[in-house]
Parts: sequence; C-alpha cells; structure tokens
Amino acid sequence: MIINLSEIMSVKGKVEHIQAPIELKYFSLEGNDYSFSEKSLVDLTITNLGERSVKIEGDAKVSLLIPCNRCLEDVETFFKLKITKDLDLNYGSEDRIKELDETNYINGYNLDVDLLVYDEILVDFPMKVLCDEDCKGFCKVCGTNLNKSSCNCEAPDPDPRMSVIRDIFNNFKEV
Ligand SMILES: [Zn+2]
Ligand SMILES: [Zn+2]
Repeated sequence: MIINLSEIMSVKGKVEHIQAPIELKYFSLEGNDYSFSEKSLVDLTITNLGERSVKIEGDAKVSLLIPCNRCLEDVETFFKLKITKDLDLNYGSEDRIKELDETNYINGYNLDVDLLVYDEILVDFPMKVLCDEDCKGFCKVCGTNLNKSSCNCEAPDPDPRMSVIRDIFNNFKEV
C-alpha cells in the first residue's frame, strides 16, 4: 500500500494513525519466494516533526513459511516487526542514492508500506531455520525424510581415501 504523506506534511505537529494492509504476496529473497501464513495490518503512526521531517512508527506481525535447512519441510516462522524511522524529506531520492542511504520505501511524498515491511523482515530474516533441533534430515543415498521413516541404506563412505587405505591393507594381507 502506498500512503501519500502530502496532507500530513502540510501541518506541523500533525499526527496520523493508519492501519495499512500488507500487500506483499511473497517475501522474495535470493530467488526464493516465501509465502505468508499470517499477515496483520501495519499499525502506523506518522508524525510531522516540522521542517519536512517525519517520524514513522509501526507495528506488525507476520509469519513466513521457511523450509527447514535439513529436511525442507516448511516451518512457520514468526516475525514481530517494530518500525521506527525518522526521515528528512528535504533529501530527494537522488541525494539518497548519492549518500548510499537505502531508504527505498519513500519516493517523494509517497510511503511504500510493503517495501518498509520488506526491509524489516530482511533485517530479522534467520540464517538458518530448523523444524526441530534434532531434525534428522534426508538420507543422502535414497532421499528418504528420516524424520518420517527410515531406510536400509548403508551410510556412505565418509572419505574416499579410506577405501584406498583399506585396499592397501587387504593387499598386504594377501602377501
Ligand atoms: Zn527438518
Ligand atoms: Zn536411504
């Protein structure tokens, strides 16, 4: 959702409360699309601080389905987003790019709530998600999910060099 800030910015000290829906369909990162299993409204408080400065505060709760790092089953992962931004709208987009400020969610007087939410999830996005600390993952030979069933595969040789040593040992025995 795009919120136009012109009206708020026209009166110093003006405070506006807005409940904005999150319109992101997926959270996309590095070529993966993660679906939302839960999305609250974003509870926004926007305050005109004067001199074209604005304070944006927001709360939202979202859950994403992120595959377990070992077995790839979706894990519902909860994010409690707490947004606090002080923005100086005297800076145009070009100035921000020059200064490498990554404020991409504001364009002129338009606030893009979805980009704001995206950035907050990105900050909290976990390196690794496990369905369980003890997740057994997949069998590396047949692909069975070892949390659900077992298989009869032998554990693969962890180190091919071991078989060379075993051959040498066997040859030695035959002499
Ligand atoms: Zn797992
Ligand atoms: Zn197996």
